Amino acid sequence: MLLHDKFGRAITDLRISITDRCNYKCVYCRTGNEGALYGDLPFADYLRMALVLVGLGIRKVRITGGEPLLRGSVVDFVRDLAKLRNVDGDPLELALTTNGHLLADLAQPLKNAGLTRVTVSMDAVDPDRFARITRVTNGYDNVLAGIRAARRAGLWPLKVNCVLMRGFNEDQIIPFGMFAREEGVIVRFIEFMPLEEDRVWSPETVVTLDEILARMREYRPLVEIPHARSETARRYRFDDGIGEIGIIAPVSHPFCGHCSRIRITSDGKIRTCLFSVWDHDLHAQMRHGASDDELAEFICGVVQKKEERHHIGEPDFVPASRTMVHIGG
Ligand code: SAM
Repeated sequence: MLLHDKFGRAITDLRISITDRCNYKCVYCRTGNEGALYGDLPFADYLRMALVLVGLGIRKVRITGGEPLLRGSVVDFVRDLAKLRNVDGDPLELALTTNGHLLADLAQPLKNAGLTRVTVSMDAVDPDRFARITRVTNGYDNVLAGIRAARRAGLWPLKVNCVLMRGFNEDQIIPFGMFAREEGVIVRFIEFMPLEEDRVWSPETVVTLDEILARMREYRPLVEIPHARSETARRYRFDDGIGEIGIIAPVSHPFCGHCSRIRITSDGKIRTCLFSVWDHDLHAQMRHGASDDELAEFICGVVQKKEERHHIGEPDFVPASRTMVHIGG
């Protein structure tokens, strides 16, 4: 039995949030006041969930948060996940999303434990701007050291994700193009979605794919790289072959029709969409003594309820029941 939803989409990607605590308070994500809202679970519980889901066809697991590196024993969790095999008997693709603040010391241990790739979130390549966005001083140097350590460790390809927000950092587009070329990383711009704690989103705050491309082309010509339909990012190389950028445009160019994801929150709830208005308590099933087969049955039923698409910007849009930091981005 493999996971498919009622729209025929195969569910092959799992994101597990292992904490909703974060050491950054990015202006477009957090209020700056609230801390963790939900609990987290022992790693053995996430591992059991992953085991059942892998048996249902999951091929890629991304560990996220909150800030996942705040839980130091994430390295052991990666080691355990690396022992799992997908339905074809192959190892999982194991990725982690981090703000990079604690990555410098953990990159090599994570690689040794079996992590395939890492994505570092970074919203400015200027230390002062970076501090204003994250509301943390001296973070920039740590993150840069983390990116370089990840490269040295062979956590490759290394992606750096940047959320652009009008009025804050849209002037960072060209500097990020230069950064991609100089540091040998793939920089991906992500359109700002209404998933923030502070409810500051409006359509005008979104810096769209078309704008990003136009701006970057003022710096250097770009050549589009053909991409698989299921890929969320549109990919571009600079004309001289040095440096790659990507744009993930869930607002202006939604890709819900190809969505292959489900998420588990730090407190063990399944979310079938970032914009879900409810979640499904997988951990409660475990607490009540469900067998692995019963968990699988529960998960299949939940996946049938996966939303067809999000409704960002439409009159009937209803805000998600959790914000990004408490879902796991
Ligand atoms: N702490 C980790 C990190 O910084 O990557 C993982 C969690 S963070 C919530 C995951 C990603 O979500 C980050 O790249 C962050 O920039 C992005 N993000 C947060 N709020 C967002 C929003 N409203 N729209 C788009 N992306 C958002």
